[in-house]
Amino acid sequence: MSSPRKEMEQLKAAEAKLLLSTYERNPILFTGGEGVYLEDEQGIRYLDLLSGIGVNALGYGHPAIEAAIAAQSKKLIHISNLFFHPGQAELALRLTEMSGLDRAFFCNSGTEAWEAAMKVARAYAGLLRNEGKSIGTKFLAIENSFHGRTFGSVSTTHKAKYREPFGPVVPGVDFVRFNDVDDLRGKFSTDVCAILLEPIQGEGGIRPVSQEFFAAARELTQSTGALLIADEIQSGLGRTGKWFAYQHYGIQPDITTLAKPLAGGLPLGAMLCTEGVSRAIHPGMHGTTFGGGPLACAVAIAVIDTIKATGLLDHVTATGAAFKEGLAALQAKHSSIVDVRGEGLMLAAQLNSAELAKSVLAQMFDRHILINRTDETVLRFLPPFILQAEHVQAALHALDEILMGIEVATNQQSHETVSQGGR
Ligand SMILES: *Cc1c(COP(=O)(O)O)cnc(C)c1O
Repeated sequence: MSSPRKEMEQLKAAEAKLLLSTYERNPILFTGGEGVYLEDEQGIRYLDLLSGIGVNALGYGHPAIEAAIAAQSKKLIHISNLFFHPGQAELALRLTEMSGLDRAFFCNSGTEAWEAAMKVARAYAGLLRNEGKSIGTKFLAIENSFHGRTFGSVSTTHKAKYREPFGPVVPGVDFVRFNDVDDLRGKFSTDVCAILLEPIQGEGGIRPVSQEFFAAARELTQSTGALLIADEIQSGLGRTGKWFAYQHYGIQPDITTLAKPLAGGLPLGAMLCTEGVSRAIHPGMHGTTFGGGPLACAVAIAVIDTIKATGLLDHVTATGAAFKEGLAALQAKHSSIVDVRGEGLMLAAQLNSAELAKSVLAQMFDRHILINRTDETVLRFLPPFILQAEHVQAALHALDEILMGIEVATNQQSHETVSQGGR
């Protein structure tokens, strides 16, 4: 009989030979899950504070998702966008009510939603030019941004490693320094067709834009007819305790994008825009084979209705606030935590070194708690919305013990160095 360890080695070897090398995976095989816990093939449970990178908002094995998949899979899985099915309008009705926007386009992923937003913005600028307005084709994106992996998305993603190997990327993108209003004003002109931002940068390290910066972006775009586009692929659908992170700012964008948690783990993205912007698109200009299929839409409707029916937005707000308070208390105790940021259940603790963050991640894993590291030094928490107070306490307790252990070890080391140096 082959041991789980041997199975893992075989799987690793097979993938190393057969797959394009895009990820360094964790050497663990998860085979199931329930609630906020994942389970590996030996039946060991892991507290999941990452939820498939912000996707599994209702956790694992949620009955509403299972029921929606079962029911819809018996009716119709795919029909293409050449025919009607009731799911898209039913889902769009919910999303437009939640967002304050008017129309939806459905696709299969975050990056596709972002591509749709960029294409609609360029087409809308063209429409305005035809109507006699002076408006260009340039995008202003923000330093430290992440918008996805396809060409439009990488061209607006700031980190060089995502963009430069694939050059030339889509032209006409300029980057503005994060939260630097003067830089934004300096780079804005009638050449710009849209300002693009994540209200809370995700991959960039859970960094909220300032009220002042967001407001300046809104005011500038309004002054020329350019668009304000908010990427809510990670922060949207209740992750921050409101349906959209921009609602914390009281600022309404012209376009927003959604994906990660939208269809309970099935691939589904959405681009939402105003009625005015939607004038730019006519049949045949944009489309997708799979996007907004009956199965994905049925599950997304179930996800949204479950969030509403179980009061999960309030739960995320309360649980997130307790989690953040706990992290702040740890920051007061441990000098290795230099900042605590985020909103709702989109939280981060920034440490003073990448090495330390790596070590904390590994030790959390040893304690069967999954988190992740982004922007080198940032511990990122994107747990399922159904996280309970006891899970928060378990995570905080583990983090506290790990940081204490590391401090004791480094104190001993420096003590030894000092006493050796004294001799
Ligand atoms: C994950 C993410 C994307 C890309 O989504 P994919 O589904 O991986 O294409 C885009 N923007 C933000 C803010 C994200 O977090």
